[in-house]
Amino acid sequence: MSKSHKQHDGGKGEAAALASLSPFELKDELIKAAGGGAVERPANASMLNAGRGNPNFLATIPRHGFWQLGLFAMRESERSFAYMPEGVGGFPKRDGLTERFELFLRENRGVAGIDFLASAVSYVRDQLGLPAGDFLYEMCEGILASNYPVPDRMLKLSEVIVGHYLRREMIGKHPFIGEFDIYAVEGGTAAMTYIFNTMKQNHLIKAGDTIALGRPIFTPYIEIPRLNDYQLEVVNVDADVANNWQYSNQELDKLRDPKVKAFFLVNPSNPPSVKLSDESLQYIADIVKERPDLILLTDDVYGTFADDFVSLFALAPQNTILVYSYSKYFGATGWRLGTVVTHKDNVLDRLIAQLPNDAKKELHHRYESITTEPDKLKFIDRLVADSRTVALNHTAGLSTPQQVQMVLFSLFSLMDTPDAYKKALKRLIRARKRALYQEIGISFKDDDLNQVDYYSILDLHFLGGRTYGNEFVQWLEQNTKPSELLFRLASETRVVVLPGLGFGTQHRSGRISLANLNESDYRKIGRAVRALMDDYVERYNAATGKNLEKGKVL
Ligand SMILES: *Cc1c(COP(=O)(O)O)cnc(C)c1O
Repeated sequence: MSKSHKQHDGGKGEAAALASLSPFELKDELIKAAGGGAVERPANASMLNAGRGNPNFLATIPRHGFWQLGLFAMRESERSFAYMPEGVGGFPKRDGLTERFELFLRENRGVAGIDFLASAVSYVRDQLGLPAGDFLYEMCEGILASNYPVPDRMLKLSEVIVGHYLRREMIGKHPFIGEFDIYAVEGGTAAMTYIFNTMKQNHLIKAGDTIALGRPIFTPYIEIPRLNDYQLEVVNVDADVANNWQYSNQELDKLRDPKVKAFFLVNPSNPPSVKLSDESLQYIADIVKERPDLILLTDDVYGTFADDFVSLFALAPQNTILVYSYSKYFGATGWRLGTVVTHKDNVLDRLIAQLPNDAKKELHHRYESITTEPDKLKFIDRLVADSRTVALNHTAGLSTPQQVQMVLFSLFSLMDTPDAYKKALKRLIRARKRALYQEIGISFKDDDLNQVDYYSILDLHFLGGRTYGNEFVQWLEQNTKPSELLFRLASETRVVVLPGLGFGTQHRSGRISLANLNESDYRKIGRAVRALMDDYVERYNAATGKNLEKGKVL
């Protein structure tokens, strides 16, 4: 859209056009509104964009490790060729690699990243029981990036190590039988794109089929099924703000309908940022026992921010596709690191094996260029092939330096047994939430263990209603346009907050990311939200002759 924010003040057409925007597109309009408008501001007043899910923190230690490993690998490359001043190097040599690495560590003692690398290699050898030399070789080759990724789904030892990480963070102490496969991908974004596509190509979902979505949810999950590519019917499974954003059993019972082919959810949720309760996890697992053909997709990119997180993948492994991303937890959105995980024994492969003969024949033909037994190709390997239009399967896979950084992030977390990094991040975002809520004047209990707080939803209906009553909320909803409050926040106070409705909240709300600004900024945002609220209380009083008190705790 090229319209200026000044046109956002009225026309019905404009309101309708804005209502159809994804919250991420609307964000751009809000940013324009916050960038310059009718209200004069001091030149140094900068915009506060709480619409971004991108964290403003990042994990430093495993990054230091990456750069040091890179220096070592360069030394290996230059050592393996006769010296050429033109800048030609060779591949690292496996022979004596461990000894040369020890020497490198000794020479660089005290340099940031060196201790981490030394511990990582010991951990791989002593705790994980893997051959340290082979590991070092995979890492050196990987970081030099002089070979196509082989195996294309994921490098061998890298898969084992990332598997340990996912096991610890997604399964924890929950009993788990069997093994799983991992496909390393370009972030959660690629995981989603690949999964939708391969499910369709393999007739697991077709146009007109019904899927269920756990809402509110990361907007692309709402938008993708509607695309011409998929044309899926959607059943909403709504979480309730009054129930601490959990799904009621009644909502989850919608999954019992055999028409529902798959259930897609984000856990912990985005935007409410609440993990599924143990009861709901078990409830869904019990439904799956009744419906062994139900496919679950759980996007657990925020799982690592929760206490004692257990994924739906742990409870219903054979039915669940697990998506994880390193983007948020390690502050690594630019790296593009994610995984798709399936159990070795899963419903997807079973459903593909049960397809009607004509569909099977078509798929046999589709994948026959990459294997002599295309019927036996696992769903996860079909994902790899489809990601490169099958014909480019031999050059598929995540770039090897990306896999190296993914492994180092994983090892960093595995070795951090006191969970110091996790606790530090939690302290950071919880302090921001307290600051925000204090300034707005929202009372909240810090005792909900399912709360993750990466985002916070300010639900106008719920918060306004519980303090000022339903009449006030109704008046507000009737006398303001859907995005009016957000545009006023943007243009009058330069605070950008995303509309919760775009994520499928049932009432008007704002999503504030607690991950991407500093505590003092959240105080400013809190004051801006409070002032706006009080302004509407005043307007309400003037319009109705009522006398609601401003500044009350919400
Ligand atoms: C941020 C996010 C993603 C995208 O993650 P990337 O790894 O950065 O592509 C996917 N799913 C959810 C729920 C997210 O919040």
